[in-house]
Parts: sequence; C-alpha cells; structure tokens
Amino acid sequence: MLLELKKGCVYGPVSSRRLGRSLGINVLPAARKVCTFDCQYCQYGWTRRDCLASADGFAAVATVLCEVEATLRRLPDPPAFLTFSGNGEPTLHPAFPRLVDSVIALRDRVAPTARTAILSNSTRVGDPAVRAALRRLDARIMKLDAGSQAALDGFNQPLEPLAIDELVEGLGDLGEVTLQALFAGGPAGNHGPDHIAAWLTCVERIRPVAVQVYTLDRDVPSRHLAPVPRPDLDAIAAALEARGLAATAF
Ligand code: SF4
Repeated sequence: MLLELKKGCVYGPVSSRRLGRSLGINVLPAARKVCTFDCQYCQYGWTRRDCLASADGFAAVATVLCEVEATLRRLPDPPAFLTFSGNGEPTLHPAFPRLVDSVIALRDRVAPTARTAILSNSTRVGDPAVRAALRRLDARIMKLDAGSQAALDGFNQPLEPLAIDELVEGLGDLGEVTLQALFAGGPAGNHGPDHIAAWLTCVERIRPVAVQVYTLDRDVPSRHLAPVPRPDLDAIAAALEARGLAATAF
C-alpha cells in the first residue's frame, strides 16, 4: 500500500533512519502532492502532471509556525531535528526562504537544541533565493539517484526539462550537503554497472560530506522495479569510501 499524504503542517516526531527523532514540517498542501519529479518509486504514488500549475492549498507562513510552535510546546523533549519534508518538494512553497528564516527563529526561541534540516529532491538548487535559504539550514539531505540524463529522465521523470549537469553543478555549489540515493533494479530501475559508474562520477564532482544509499522498502507505483540486494548496496557504499567519501547503506 502506498503512503497517505500528510494531513497537516506537522507530523511526528518520527524516528527517522537518517536523522533520529525528527519533527516533520510539511509545507506542501494537505490534499495533494506537489513535486517537480515523478519518481518511479514515490511512496505517495504518481505525480499529477498539472500539480505545479496552481499555488492553491499552501499553508501561510504564520499557520506553519503556529502549528510547529504548538507541537514543540506540547512535546516533553525537543526533537533532534526540525525537518522540512512532506507531500512533495518543500522548496516549492511560494515563500520558502521566509519559511526557513521563520522556522530558524522559532527554533532559537523554543527548541534551541534542535537542528534544522531538509529532505529535498535537489531540482531547485539553481534558484539563487532557494539556494541561499538551503544554506541557512543546519543540514541539507539532497536527492541524487541519477548519473546520466537518461536515468534522470527515466527514473525521476522531471515534470519540466532539467539537465543533469546543471543539477550536479548546483549541488556542488551548495556547500556542505549529504546526498541520498535510492537504487532499484528492474526494467524501470537505475541499477547496473554503467549507471553506477556514471553516478559515482557525479558524486565525486559534488564532494558531499556524506552519502546515504538505500533501496525500496515499501510499495511503489511502478510495477517495473525491484529492491537491490543488500550486498550490492554495500558494494556501492564501498566504492564511495574507496573515493574518500563517507557512505552508509541503509
Ligand atoms: S522527489 Fe520525492 S516526493 Fe517527489 S516524486 Fe520523487 S520520491 Fe516522490
């Protein structure tokens, strides 16, 4: 079964494989997924091709802050992270830079030990205002599943034209980033020697502080994918470490 969309601006705290105890901040509309990708493996199902055409349903900055503050004040202990994530790509909120500044100020006031983070699909790193806002967060976990234009177009299926070289260049310019990459086998997958070699070249250009590799662990919309065996994920992590890059296979 695919995951249900988040119903409000705040969810959790969840115990995240990548961040520990994390309070999720969903800045996307509650009733629909809004994303610049249509990944073959998206836990929320296929992306509607017209989802970027409307700004309807995005919560106001004040509403997001109000819900996050109320949740933080209710929790017995502060979470380790306040994490922008949720029903699609968080940087698509029309006031994303202001949201970042407001959440950082709220964190300083109400939960100063918590760190701020984002799970992003990386597609908007080329926008200067978005890039600057991403840099103000404590941690950026950015998606890079593809090492070639064909893999990007086939596996992540951008809704608008996106060049793999620009994506890689933008991630390299972002500063300290953690990359996350999902690998899947099958006819619609991104796993194979040529793809892995091209992807490793892209990761070396970016020089992330860490790389997280993982595979399918729940239902996905495509019928043409399969999980990657654990030894193969470990081999990808080992190839990264051989290049001097910290890597974890989940
Ligand atoms: S980037 Fe994330 S939300 Fe968007 S389609 Fe891919 S998996 Fe789904």
